[in-house]
Amino acid sequence: MKWLQKLITWARIKSPWIIHFNTGACNACDIEIVAALTPRYDIERFGILLKGTPRHADVLVCSGPVTRQIQDRLVRIYEQMPEPKFVVAVGTCACSGGVFKGCYNVKGGIDAVIPVSAYIPGCPARPEAIIDGVVKLLTSLQGAKPAAVVPETTATAESP
Ligand code: SF4
Repeated sequence: MKWLQKLITWARIKSPWIIHFNTGACNACDIEIVAALTPRYDIERFGILLKGTPRHADVLVCSGPVTRQIQDRLVRIYEQMPEPKFVVAVGTCACSGGVFKGCYNVKGGIDAVIPVSAYIPGCPARPEAIIDGVVKLLTSLQGAKPAAVVPETTATAESP
């Protein structure tokens, strides 16, 4: 059955379906994620499709720190996703809490609530960094277990 597992892994890498969730972001990271999904950056060329329900998604892309108001919803969305599932934290806030760290209403980064597979820093994270992080996560799936991924491209300069 080894060939079957190889086929499943190949299919998973070639067509990951994602869902995007804002856990308390200022909206800038969300705009960069949307930009990555548009034809200009064309993330679909990697087979990545945006889905409207966690039940159809392989990858949960989160932006922003986790607020106390949103944490239960984040856990509910994560639990609704089928296994194997992966979480990508986009932006410094999602990675660590960022500028909101220590606020009375903020739990911290995404990994304060659910496990994270890839961290993409930046304020906001640029579409190139988001694509780089997602592709590295997918590449790491060829191994037995995805390691925590941090892309090399972390520049936060203005978009071209
Ligand atoms: S990392 Fe920066 S741009 Fe992204 S949600 Fe936080 S403050 Fe906003």
